[in-house]
Amino acid sequence: MPELPEVEALAKHLRDHAVGRMVARVDVASMSVLKTADPLWTALHGREVTDAVRHGKYLDLDCGGLHLVCHLAKAGWLRWSDKLSATPPKPGRGPIALRVHLGGVGFDLTEAGTQKSLAAWIVEDPAEVPGIARLGPDALEADADGFAALLEGRTERIKTVLTEQSTIAGIGNAYSDEILHAAKLSPFATAGKLDAAAVTRLHGYVQEILRDAVDRSLRQDAARLKAEKRSGMRVHGRTGLPCPVCGDAVREVSFADRSMQYCPTCQTGGKQLADRRMSRLLK
Ligand SMILES: [Zn+2]
Repeated sequence: MPELPEVEALAKHLRDHAVGRMVARVDVASMSVLKTADPLWTALHGREVTDAVRHGKYLDLDCGGLHLVCHLAKAGWLRWSDKLSATPPKPGRGPIALRVHLGGVGFDLTEAGTQKSLAAWIVEDPAEVPGIARLGPDALEADADGFAALLEGRTERIKTVLTEQSTIAGIGNAYSDEILHAAKLSPFATAGKLDAAAVTRLHGYVQEILRDAVDRSLRQDAARLKAEKRSGMRVHGRTGLPCPVCGDAVREVSFADRSMQYCPTCQTGGKQLADRRMSRLLK
C-alpha cells in the first residue's frame, strides 16, 4: 500500500508531468471506484491541471478548482504513461479502474486483487472527502511537542495509534513497522505509557524514516516506486530474514486484520509476541 513517501513522490511526478496539461478525457472502467456522483467525471474534460498535492495518503489532482482525489488503498497504484493508449479500458475487466488522458500522456489508477477498495472523488474542495476532513496533523509536520500530545492518555497500542489517520496522517502498516523497529519499541506497547525518552526517540524516527523514504522515492521513476519501497525495508515484509541491526530473525505477529513484522531482540527484549487474533478466538 502506498504510504506518505510514495504518495508524495506520485504527487511530485504529477506536478512535473501533468501540471499545465489539459484533461482530454477521463475513462471510468469501474464505476464503484467513484464515490461522488455530482459533478460527473466529464466535468474534468477540457480543464487544465494546475497542481498535484498530497493530503495524508490521499492524492489530489487540482484541475483548476475541480479536484480529482484518490486513495490508493491496499493494492491500488497510479501508473503513469508517456504513451497512454487512446482506447478506453474495458469496464469490469483487468486492474484499470480509471484512465486519465492528458493529451498523449496520462495515467491509470489500477488495483490488483479481488478486494476492491481503491476510491476516487471529484470535488470542489478536498475537505469534502470525509477521510481528508478527519485527517490528523501530517506526520512530517508534527513537531516533538505536538507529537507527544497526540500520544498522551492513549490506551491503544502504539502500532494502532501510529497508523490511525485521524491521529497522525500518512503512516501505514509498512512504515510503522520500520519506525517502531528503528525506535526499538514493541508494536504492542501502550501508546500513552511510553516514557518521555521513548516518545522523543519515536518522533525522531518518524521524521527520519519518512524523510529518507521521501528522498529515495523522489529519485525513483514513478514506475519503480513499489520496488523501491520494498527494498528500503528492514523488518516489514521480511519475516524469517535476519534483522540488519542485530541478526535475529524477523518475526511476524497478527493483530486485528493485519500482520506486522518486528525484531524480538531489538524491540521486545527477545520475547515473541503472541498472535492476538488467534488468542482472542481461543478464549
Ligand atoms: Zn534486531
